[in-house]
Amino acid sequence: VAMDPPAEGGTVAVMVRVRPPAPNEREGAAHSVLHVVDQHILVFDPDEPGGPHGTALHPLPTRGSKQRGKDIKFVFDRVFGEGATQQEVFQHTTRDVLDGVLNGYNCSVFAYGATGAGKTYTMLGSEQSPGIMYLTMAELYRRIEARKDEKSCEVLVSYQEVYNEQIHDLLEPKGPLAIREDPEKGVVVQGLSFHQPRSAEQLLEMLANGNKNRTQHPTDANATSSRSHAVFQIYVKQQDRVVGLAQDLQVAKMSLIDLAGSERASVSKTKGERLREGANINRSLLALINVINALADAKSKKTHIPYRDSKLTRLLKDSIGGNCRTIMIAAVSPSSLAYEDTYNTLKYANRAK
Ligand code: ADP
Ligand code: MG
Repeated sequence: VAMDPPAEGGTVAVMVRVRPPAPNEREGAAHSVLHVVDQHILVFDPDEPGGPHGTALHPLPTRGSKQRGKDIKFVFDRVFGEGATQQEVFQHTTRDVLDGVLNGYNCSVFAYGATGAGKTYTMLGSEQSPGIMYLTMAELYRRIEARKDEKSCEVLVSYQEVYNEQIHDLLEPKGPLAIREDPEKGVVVQGLSFHQPRSAEQLLEMLANGNKNRTQHPTDANATSSRSHAVFQIYVKQQDRVVGLAQDLQVAKMSLIDLAGSERASVSKTKGERLREGANINRSLLALINVINALADAKSKKTHIPYRDSKLTRLLKDSIGGNCRTIMIAAVSPSSLAYEDTYNTLKYANRAK
């Protein structure tokens, strides 16, 4: 029984995850600028009582003087507070879209946010608390096992990065790969390697190896800042086991994306090579923002969705919008030390709804 496809356009769910404060964010005048009110409401307040009221030191450029001192309330599909576990985040994000994938619909889950906000923790996690990529695969294997008598199922994965508007295979590194649009297969990355992990555990190993191949360059802003978008894709091929009927082969893919840091390029004093890199990061990230915003607008009117503007959006063209469910997880720090990044991320996430 096929599930009804979700309505056109209204397919982006926007969630926010607030990470716990880092050790340096607990020191001195640093204080929290976020209050998680409930599962849907988040209040941003840089002038929170108990803090340094440091508006002279850190003026909020985007807020008018009339608004100064007032908090800003945001409403999202879901808000995860500091105490949310990986399992909880998984339960309320990817677990639901797995149904769509098993019914033949592509879908995508993004982690958006500034460097250090918790994107990689959410998507990849640590050995002790694996993130969405692992939990999704483990759940997928469970579901396939539960219905193996009715359907045969093949699962393949790929892991690639978009860096400097080039696509690289993280599991079998070679030169940059080209994208092609196939009338039947959809978006195809030429020469990309596919793998069949035998268990969720083996997948973890694969991801860890892939991450060693990610392009990381120290910048002034953050020594471990990642300037690449990491795209993990799970392909599910299913076929009914019923003999004698037309064999309906269903293929769907799920894309889990750890985006590059969304902080402004001007924050890291970039020049030369790094500057071009920064411009290109903005290109894929800005193009993604434009696509998501166009989809939000498409709820009310017919809008052109500008997929062709970057490598990342071309790569994900068949996985965002249309019948595809998309989840955007905006990761933020609760600290006054990061209030500008947090504010920008919340503004962006709010616009994406
Ligand atoms: P990003 O990928 O956005 O740059 P990270 O995921 O690397 O950020 O997170 C920055 C730091 O904060 C890491 O040390 C990470 O382990 C920690 N961290 C992030 N989110 C959480 C969380 N929800 N709980 C505990 N630690 C977290
Ligand atoms: Mg990261």
